[in-house]
Amino acid sequence: MWKGTEAMETTVDSAFIRRAVEVADLNAVRVALYQLTGDPEVAQLPTAANLDEAQRELLITKAVSWLEQYAGPVRLTEPPEAELRTLMNMATAEEMGDLEFEARRDLPAFKEFPWTAEWTDAKPELPEGFKVAIVGSGFSGLAMGVQLERLGIPYVVLERRGEPGGTWTINRYPDVRVDTISITYEFSFEKDHQWDEYFGRGAEVRSYLEHISRKYGVFDHTLFNRDLKRATFDEGRNVWMLESETPDGPETIEANVVVTAVGTFANPKFPQFEGQESFEGPILHPAAWSPDLELSGKRVAIIGNGSTGVQLLAPIAAEAEQVFVFQRTPQWISPREKYGAPIEPELHWLVENFPGYWNWARYMAIAALFQTHRFLVPDEEWKAQGGKFNPLNDKMREDLTAYIKAQTGGRVDLIDKLIPDYAPFSRRPVVDNGWYKALTRDNVELVTDGITRFTPKGIETQDGTLYDVDVIVTATGFEVIKYLWPTEYIGKDGVSIHDFWSKDGPRAYLGMMTPNFPNMFMIYGPNSQPVSGGTGLPIWYVIWSAYSAQCVVRMIEEGHSRVEVKEEAYERYNKALDAEAAKLILLQEEGAPDKNYYVNEFGRLQVNAPWYGPEYHRMCTRVDWDDIEIS
Ligand code: NAP
Repeated sequence: MWKGTEAMETTVDSAFIRRAVEVADLNAVRVALYQLTGDPEVAQLPTAANLDEAQRELLITKAVSWLEQYAGPVRLTEPPEAELRTLMNMATAEEMGDLEFEARRDLPAFKEFPWTAEWTDAKPELPEGFKVAIVGSGFSGLAMGVQLERLGIPYVVLERRGEPGGTWTINRYPDVRVDTISITYEFSFEKDHQWDEYFGRGAEVRSYLEHISRKYGVFDHTLFNRDLKRATFDEGRNVWMLESETPDGPETIEANVVVTAVGTFANPKFPQFEGQESFEGPILHPAAWSPDLELSGKRVAIIGNGSTGVQLLAPIAAEAEQVFVFQRTPQWISPREKYGAPIEPELHWLVENFPGYWNWARYMAIAALFQTHRFLVPDEEWKAQGGKFNPLNDKMREDLTAYIKAQTGGRVDLIDKLIPDYAPFSRRPVVDNGWYKALTRDNVELVTDGITRFTPKGIETQDGTLYDVDVIVTATGFEVIKYLWPTEYIGKDGVSIHDFWSKDGPRAYLGMMTPNFPNMFMIYGPNSQPVSGGTGLPIWYVIWSAYSAQCVVRMIEEGHSRVEVKEEAYERYNKALDAEAAKLILLQEEGAPDKNYYVNEFGRLQVNAPWYGPEYHRMCTRVDWDDIEIS
């Protein structure tokens, strides 16, 4: 326990400190304060949502008083296990089991580099010329680069664009920003990061990633403008030959191990509508947004109401003369507290000067996702009694329906078109950026008739209406389920990965390894995105990187040159995965699997790991060496 050692010089007054505590996450304040002081009165306080007025005041007063005396930029080390567990239980007011504790203990990120792979003893001598190639320098490629930097393993990053940041460098459309709170969409090894907004804008995420790339040394290992076209495994030598296109012509490099970190939102999906070429104005995918595009006085069509289409409607509607929104399928679109709000200067001060606050604010933000699995599994008894799916999911449906009605001011003409006939949590959640409200503007019209064709002047729908527009924005998504595409990977016996996956779509062991492709790991590969108990993807990028690094470490330590998943383990894992996926709403009738990019054309869950989050965490953090062949 740390009570503070001496009074710190502080430049802020009591009123400022009080405001800081008041805008803070009071749960995080409660747990951090207890960690610092061991004050039994703080221990007895309920979670923030259950504080009465007197308890709230007590907590705030105690925190302010502590900060007045001791505030300062001190970073706490990880408390002993029993204490950590007590604090975590206190945070969520629940006694967690061992499996959950194991999965969650690094979420507050007290360790310097949570989850990172290590050498067993001192770093051994590496084989002459040993090198890892990482493909992509977005979030996941950076995570892998940081692992290798720490291990001192030589590596190179091949990046097809001219800067690090992946999808965040591609997507620059109006109002692009994260829709999970930034404190969960950041790396746990970059402590106390100060975001400008609760939900960082695209430009801020981009500069954060460049900062990470430079600070941790990955930037200097990155070869930009390398578009990897083909990777071929040389079985005789256990190395990969990587052929890229560069501005100076083709280039081939050799690497012992390849780690693909190419993301799922890197390749825009361009729809093919009849008459598309005849349209006289620009047709623009948001991933190809032009900052020079002038929309004032223009008539604009927006096709699509996924996260992107929803995010960009309000700013476009504020500028354009007229907007037509083409919706094929209604979405469940939900609000987020503090979405679009700047982080107060007082909170910035608190993050810097209240030891433990950042750790517990992270933990609390992630804890909000711990119960997700309960929304995804049906309750047959509930359904037999007339419920739609399960009590929690039905309640969410009710709340979101009420939200739609409230946001549209009760406009029945809109409401009827906006309420989905499938259950919430079936598809990737979409966050409201004022989309429903924008639909009520005089210059916005929601169109739900199917599009039949583009004409020189606009878009024609099934009922024969012609929507006359100057610009068409196709917010039609990405080639999410075409993993690794369009790069060709050739493994053992000349087998192409896309042929290997042609039976029912991409598969992998733990989302990371595929038989026939030795010395190859995928970060954010097929069926890897945890469907529940989610903790924000950046944590998983680190976990998958650490898993891949552990395999490389062991291969080097044992003096071998080849690591691969056993075919039997891959088959067994995927059989269990299919069985688990079948239990979830995403593949059931209530979940409209035919309208979901999580599900592929073979009806298989493709993007997600269907497991209960803590179980999947265990699978990915404790390598089952019986499943892996090292030779
Ligand atoms: P998306 O979720 O795949 O949505 C594509 C939209 O286009 C859907 O409304 C789809 O309709 C519609 N569409 C596709 N083809 C069409 C066609 N031929 N005719 C009419 N409509 C068509 O794509 P997205 O919005 O780009 O989002 C992709 C993912 O990127 C998100 O799920 C999220 O993971 C990520 N993202 C994140 C953020 C963020 O964090 N802030 C922002 C944007 C995107 P149907 O529903 O009928 O298929």
